[in-house]
Formats: sequence, C-alpha cells, structure tokens
Amino acid sequence: MTKILHRTIGTTFPNAVSGDGVFITDDDGRSYLDGSGGAAVSCLGHNHPEVLDAMKVQMGRISYAHTSFFTTDVAERLAEQLVELAPDGLDYVYLVSGGSEAVEAALKMARQYFVEIGQPHRRHIIARRQSYHGNTIGALATGGNAWRRAQFKPILPETHHVSPCYAYRDLRVGETHEAYAERLAAELEDKVLELGEDKVMAFVAEPVVGATLGAVGPVANYLKRVRQVCDKYGILLILDEVMCGMGRTGTIFAMEQEGVVADLVTIAKGLGGGFQPIGAVLLSEKIYRAFADGSGLFQHGHTYIGHPIAAAAASKVVEIISRPEMMANVAKMGDRLQAGLDEALGQSPYVGDIRGRGLFRGVEIVADKDTKQPFDSARKMHSRIKKEAMRRGLLCYPMGGTIDGVHGDHVLLAPPYIIRPEQIDLIVDRLSDAIRAAAAV
Ligand code: PMP
Repeated sequence: MTKILHRTIGTTFPNAVSGDGVFITDDDGRSYLDGSGGAAVSCLGHNHPEVLDAMKVQMGRISYAHTSFFTTDVAERLAEQLVELAPDGLDYVYLVSGGSEAVEAALKMARQYFVEIGQPHRRHIIARRQSYHGNTIGALATGGNAWRRAQFKPILPETHHVSPCYAYRDLRVGETHEAYAERLAAELEDKVLELGEDKVMAFVAEPVVGATLGAVGPVANYLKRVRQVCDKYGILLILDEVMCGMGRTGTIFAMEQEGVVADLVTIAKGLGGGFQPIGAVLLSEKIYRAFADGSGLFQHGHTYIGHPIAAAAASKVVEIISRPEMMANVAKMGDRLQAGLDEALGQSPYVGDIRGRGLFRGVEIVADKDTKQPFDSARKMHSRIKKEAMRRGLLCYPMGGTIDGVHGDHVLLAPPYIIRPEQIDLIVDRLSDAIRAAAAV
C-alpha cells in the first residue's frame, strides 16, 4: 500500500523507472511516448546528457548556498541568459522553485510596487474566468477556474474575473476577431471602472492558455488592447508563461508573437525542463527601481530560491532551447502535429477544435460537433482518453469535465522539442485511436 497522498487517491500508477529522449519506461518494461512532456514540462525529453552533466558539475562545486548569504555563478548566469532572451523592458529576474511560487511572487511584487510608489489604494487583481495560475492560496484565488476554487473559496482573497479570449466558443456569429478583441478589452475596462480606476493593481493572463482551455491562443490584437487598457489606468500587466513560455509555442516567450511586453512575467515548467524544480519572475526596470529606491528590499523569500543545482540545470536548458535549430524544430514538428491531427481527427464527430502554436496543441472533445455541446461530465471523457492513451503507450494531458458550465473536455499535447517526425506521427495515431476508443464506451 502506498504511503503517498496521491492527487487521485485510490489510483494505481505505473512505476516510472527510466527515461530516454521522448520515452519513459515503467517497471513492467512498458514504454510510453511522452506526448505532453508530463504537464508541458520536459521540453528536452528525459535524461538529456548535457543537462545532466551541467548538474553534475555544479554538484561537485556546491549544492546549496542560502541567498541571504551568497549568490552563485550559475544563478547569475541564468538571470543574464533570461534577460538577454526576454523582450526589451524585462531587465531583472527573481528565481523561485516553481510556477505557483512565481505567480505568488509576481502578485506580491505588484502590490509592493504600488506601496513603494505611494499608491497603497491599489489592491485589486483582475484575471480571467476558466484560468489556472497555480494551487497556492494567492495563485488559486487569481485563477478563475470555479471547480478548482469551489471548496477553498471561503479562505481565498477576493479577486475579480473577466472573460478569457476563447474564440472557438465565444466568438459571436459574424463577429470579426478585431471586434472580439475590442469587446474583451471593453469588458476589462468596465471591470476596472467598476472597481475604481485607481484601485486595480494587476491584470493576470496566460498568453496561450494551457491547462484549463487546451492551447488556446489569443486573437490578433487582444493582448495589445489589454496592454493599452492596463496603461490607461496604470495597472501592471502580469503574463503567466509558466506553461506556454520557454519556447513551447515556437518563440522563447509566447508574448513575443503578440508584440506585447508585460511588466511581470512568470515562467517555470520548461525552464527546468523537469530536471529540477525551478521557476522565475522577470520584472521591468520600473518595478526594480521602485524597490531599490524605496525600501531597498523585496519583502519575500523562500528557502530554495536560486538553488544552485536547479539554476545549473535551467541555465543549460535555456542555452539548449535558444539554439536556432531548436525553435526551428518546434515550428516544423508543431506544423506536422497540427496537420496530422487535422487529417486524423478533423472529421471526427467528437472533435470540435484542433488548435495551438508550436509544440503546444489542444484537441477539444465534444459530444456534438455542430452545437459544440460538451460530453456530460459524468462520462469523464478526459480520464477515459488518458487511460486509453496510456494503454497504447502515449502520454497526453487531458483535462475537463464541464468547467463553469461552458467548457468540455480537451487533450493537451506538449511533446519535447527534440521530437522527430516519426514520433509525431506516432502521437497522432495513438491519440486518434484513444479518442475513438474512449468515445465508443
Ligand atoms: N501557471 C500556469 C499557467 C500553469 O499551467 C501552472 C501549472 N500547471 C502553474 C501556474 C503552477 O505551476 P506549478 O504547478 O509549478 O506550481
């Protein structure tokens, strides 16, 4: 009997004993093609020799040095690499141990920024419905996913939510993408005015939505219009790139494709590539300056921030993903994955939409393609698909049930950037079979 409190209690999990490239093997000798990089984490696959070597070198030097006493070469190098790769305007890095921690830190930076500049009345957070930003109290409060929040709501700080940008479901008949972006920006502005034009501190969004919607990117101009609304009212824009960042969508940062620079950006998952738990917040000069010229400290801190082995792993991951051939492969394999899914599943009565960017793709599962009616959540299509896929040696990341009464099941695909064409084709074959089998029950 397991002594671990697993997330889904009572489930028996296979025991993963080794990993090699895009494959994981369990103790029965079964091999699984990692089509989702776990939860969009393993961007370089498993056991990448260069990353392992970088970690070993660091282990031979020093494994841990508390950041209230020391900095380390590896942490400094990682920060420099990230600033170098980030769009102009993001000049500093705060290292943490994961995505939720990054979101918490970004929220606290936003709050402290306004205290430092003499606007303590700014305290409201606006985010979007059907969103996920982590499971700690502040991050959970920020996320607008009613199902995840439900039982914890009484202990969550107050936050506010507007509509996500979700064209497949929310674009009105005859509405252009431009008009849709305008409508969403107006909704955000209305929310700001309702709360008080000098009372909002931050708007939080994922540029390309991962877990809750399944690789849903914004329509053109949406994030630009959001940025304008934030600027008009002096609100900080926090973009959560924990899942979609670090090359996942074909550019190192997803926001690059929108021509928008946030004030604070959270990253994790692909940053450590699963080799080590690590996350980071990138922040603008204006926020750094407010702290430096004000109280002289960011009033925060966790024991493992800037962990040297995590920093060594991430520094090597970042070096590898920033090689030109890596993003070229993400673009090429991403196109192949989309084309393969379109061909294999485009006509399926159970597939409403196939979308995404780079190696971040989502398949939305519906009971009725014409009405977009989701499956009844009691059918648990997402867990059936997961089971059928694993039976066929494929790891994909299905999520779902009916969220907020509108959203059905989807499957998220996020394979490692080192994936080859024949492995992409294997994902397509195995996933189509799994969806067919799950729908047939
Ligand atoms: N933000 C986003 C967009 C995420 O997808 C996740 C994790 N799925 C988180 C935050 C939380 O990250 P972590 O699980 O590393 O705490």
